[in-house]
Amino acid sequence: MKQFRRHALAAAVSIAALGATAALTAAAAQDQADMILTNGDIVTPKGSVQAMAVERGVIIGLGDASAVDKYKTGKTKVIDLKGATVLPGLHDMHVHPMGAGLAQLQCRFPQGSSLATVQKTLAGCVKEHTKGEWITGGQWDATSIGSPPNRAMLDKVAPDNPVVLTDISGHSAWANSKALEVAGVTAKTPNPPGGIIERDAKGEPTGVFREAGANMVRSKVPPATPEQNVKALKWALHKMLSYGITSLTDAAVGEDNMAAYDELSKEGELKQRVVGCIMWRPSALTGGSPMFETAIQRRNLYKTARFSPSCIKIFLDGVPTDGHTAAMLDPYADAKNPKGPRAKGLLMMPQKVLSRAVTRFDKEGLTVKFHAAGDAAVHEALNAIEAARKANGPSGNLHDPGHNSFVKMSDIKRGRALAATFEMSPYIWYPNPIIPDIKKAIGPERMKRWIPVKDAIDSGALVVPGSDWSVVPSVDPWLAIETLVTRQKPGGGGEVLGAQERITLKQAMDMFTVNSAVLMKHRNLVGTIEPGMLADLVVTDRDPYKIPVTDIHNTKVKMTIINGEVVYRADSD
Ligand SMILES: [Zn+2]
Repeated sequence: MKQFRRHALAAAVSIAALGATAALTAAAAQDQADMILTNGDIVTPKGSVQAMAVERGVIIGLGDASAVDKYKTGKTKVIDLKGATVLPGLHDMHVHPMGAGLAQLQCRFPQGSSLATVQKTLAGCVKEHTKGEWITGGQWDATSIGSPPNRAMLDKVAPDNPVVLTDISGHSAWANSKALEVAGVTAKTPNPPGGIIERDAKGEPTGVFREAGANMVRSKVPPATPEQNVKALKWALHKMLSYGITSLTDAAVGEDNMAAYDELSKEGELKQRVVGCIMWRPSALTGGSPMFETAIQRRNLYKTARFSPSCIKIFLDGVPTDGHTAAMLDPYADAKNPKGPRAKGLLMMPQKVLSRAVTRFDKEGLTVKFHAAGDAAVHEALNAIEAARKANGPSGNLHDPGHNSFVKMSDIKRGRALAATFEMSPYIWYPNPIIPDIKKAIGPERMKRWIPVKDAIDSGALVVPGSDWSVVPSVDPWLAIETLVTRQKPGGGGEVLGAQERITLKQAMDMFTVNSAVLMKHRNLVGTIEPGMLADLVVTDRDPYKIPVTDIHNTKVKMTIINGEVVYRADSD
């Protein structure tokens, strides 16, 4: 009897479903397009088509002009693409837009600057500041400076202003004597947890601070005003639209960032789909500061249609450069004492603390993004994800170790098995000023699998890209798409960095579209151009699939569309 009822019910359901299908087909004939794109090269998973119809932000028709013509009404906006290419909107899964905007106001010198250039630029900045006013800026690297940086070099041109300059990794700070005086840092000041104060032979601070050490100085710089924050964020998001970035993960937000997103939402100026990662540090490392917990509890006060603070950011280590702050499983190649306490870098958090935190956040439905550059940090992140899976089962949160400069092969396979995501960043998979520092510190053998994008993709794991702008100077995704394929300087030629980790163009494009949409839990909305998907699109002057790969970095975006709304036009910018 029971069995029969179930069958009868199933039959009734399928009859109802048939009825609904018929009704939908009838309704489809009456669909009216708000926008039609025509005469284009629209790249869909089934090949290129010429035209697209969009209704209330949704793609309702794809095909040749006649196929979408039936959706046209007197009110339909028709855009003639004049042969331009249309691709799915691009994603950047690790970016710091507000910081990038605020950096515009700082004392800036080009990456790779010599000491003379740094001093000359700083001298100019001093003239624009009153005595005693803070000067912040960047970005320096030890190799280009020529010798280890010290505060006397800055004192020479800036004796009366506190100065703090960030390096090209964003993990080290170079301060002058005035800044040390204001911060109260002397020979007697101990290293803070998770940080280092570099010292000379006499034990005096040199002016260089690593990781959490940098906060000792940076925390004395007066914060930007809420108005400056909003302006900076707006500038940076517009810049990203101009490159076709329609979705992003803001990789480190506090309440100041969340308030700025909230304000832009209110003004109708937040166009992209944004996930925000709230910075978290356990109280043991912050001296009991409740700041991070407060931000986590208040997060949904800032949630809007386009901004979702549903991610937590945890720093596990630093960077594999001269400061040796990335946590490695084996000692640095140039470690002064291979058996010493700092030979393998700096792991910032005990495993137990991390595993407990990740298990908790996973249970609360939050995705965790880790800063994990060294293979020991990635290993620790995966251990924590494993602990969370054991405690909570599959949660659908595809937690992502970020950067992954070095990852043991066994950990790539483990990451795949644990449904972790590898977020490969920053855009340094081609020769640039930070590379000599990394090579020197790590040695040639481990550089062969540096940022193992192909190993991760081949394992079947989810792999996404992140720019880490403004740690890197450009947020241009076209530059990254080309160099993921070539691993050479833009335009090709010269050295190939980590040749065995080169991937195909299709794999690179997937990283920037479908894969990232999966991580953001937006795959049912965006990532491909298909009927029923949202119209998040980028219109470009060339089709990356039809040109030499070494030309992709020259791609110019003509138009960016989000949810059927034209949010950027090159010709009116
Ligand atoms: Zn970052």
